[in-house]
Amino acid sequence: MKTRQVFYQCQRCGHCCRWPGFVRLTSQDVLRLSSHLALSEEAFVQNHTHLNPDRSGLVLNTKENGECCFLEGVNHCQVQAVKPFQCGGFPNTWNFPGWREVCEAVEVETWEEGVV
Ligand code: SF4
Ligand code: SF4
Repeated sequence: MKTRQVFYQCQRCGHCCRWPGFVRLTSQDVLRLSSHLALSEEAFVQNHTHLNPDRSGLVLNTKENGECCFLEGVNHCQVQAVKPFQCGGFPNTWNFPGWREVCEAVEVETWEEGVV
């Protein structure tokens, strides 16, 4: 029996890089981003992150208008090759109520053979 799977294919509209919220960073994100930017981890943390208000971890800095510090223009991510796991997972591994109204990802349907 085949099972319907739905995958949302990002259209790079850039909306999720501009809406309010936090891009939380894992220690792996800090390693990958600092290496990509040729910075020490300390310099990356100092220049591009701050502590989440609930002090649970580091989040990316934002510009004065609220968009991500790595967003260039409308939809260009300057760290696309190593973007944080949180960015890469949206909207397939996590999302929030109402996300479909602001995200332009296209629904791609696949059918996979189920395990008997
Ligand atoms: S790191 Fe890149 S993908 Fe993530 S919010 Fe910033 S600009 Fe968008
Ligand atoms: S809002 Fe959706 S389609 Fe637009 S960049 Fe983010 S994930 Fe991709």
